[in-house]
Amino acid sequence: MEPRDLSVHTPYRAGRGIEEVARELGKEPDDLVKLSSNENPFGPSPAAVEAIREAAPTVHTYPKAEHTDLSAALAEKWDVALEQVWLSPGGDGVLDYLARAFLDPGDGVLVPDPGFAYYPMSARYRDAEVDSYPIPREEDFAQRPEHVLERYDDHRIIYLTTPHNPTGSEMARDDIRTIAEETDDETLVLVDEAYGEFTDAPNACPLLDDREDIAILRTFSKAYGLAGLRLGYALVPEEWADAYERVNTPFAVNSLACQAGMAALEDDDHVEKTVETTRWAREYMHDELDARTWESGGNFVLAEVGDGAAVSDATQREGVIIRDCSSFGLEDCVRITCGTETETERAVAVLNEVLS
Ligand SMILES: *Cc1c(COP(=O)(O)O)cnc(C)c1O
Repeated sequence: MEPRDLSVHTPYRAGRGIEEVARELGKEPDDLVKLSSNENPFGPSPAAVEAIREAAPTVHTYPKAEHTDLSAALAEKWDVALEQVWLSPGGDGVLDYLARAFLDPGDGVLVPDPGFAYYPMSARYRDAEVDSYPIPREEDFAQRPEHVLERYDDHRIIYLTTPHNPTGSEMARDDIRTIAEETDDETLVLVDEAYGEFTDAPNACPLLDDREDIAILRTFSKAYGLAGLRLGYALVPEEWADAYERVNTPFAVNSLACQAGMAALEDDDHVEKTVETTRWAREYMHDELDARTWESGGNFVLAEVGDGAAVSDATQREGVIIRDCSSFGLEDCVRITCGTETETERAVAVLNEVLS
């Protein structure tokens, strides 16, 4: 037998894993610097690692209490009600849950171009129609409400990413509000703040106080260094928060992720160190890379290098894995994740060498 017709569904292509590349190059993983997936270069919080160890002997039980405890911790952090926190397997899980809760077959969604591949993927699983709005390179990837509103045609969900992957550009909170105001009450504005910890710009959470058409995506994969555990959440308006129970996969988040998430939330030092180093690395790359770069609010920098695929292959042979951006439609660009000081300096040196 065969699965149903999946031809409109394109597989998600992740940045390549360090073991995979090491094997191919005949090197040890430790000799490689992986700056291709916007992971935390310091690893997880040590407190989270300890929490995982402590929780290991009880993974035979379903994670009911842990789920509630983590939701409560997040509700307190954001000053929202418990029901307004929708825990999910990664930020990607938020996209699934919101698509389940809002999309009927044939509904339209509006995604950014360039943009994150899982927006259209998760919408297509619900048989939605996907349109896009530009984040124009001619304007240095500026995100302006006009770009979205010009393409808006009663779409059911509009996806905004701030800071934006892979360009690093941002959308101001007032502009997000404008989009929500100018579009129908039945249009959800989904604000993806996967990189929210790395910017100084204010987050969108206060918009939940007086709007019912905004949801915010957050994740533990980036600043918190827990990408392997798959832990994220949405912050949603109180009015429809109870839809969660109808759309989530039972026990959405595993118990180790819950315990690690709670420990990571308490470990301010780890997040601060991560964010500080990221700021330094962004500046260093802007100053030292012999390539055009753009301002970034995230933990990565987009650089214009000519042939992105050839350049990333060449740096990889020198042990530095960066992200070729052709899958985003930016064939002449690469995206470099902010590493530790040593990693970032090595990446810049290798990239400059390749470019010369
Ligand atoms: C990394 C990322 C996410 C979420 O990733 P998860 O690992 O599923 O939490 C969401 N949106 C963007 C733009 C991202 O780059």
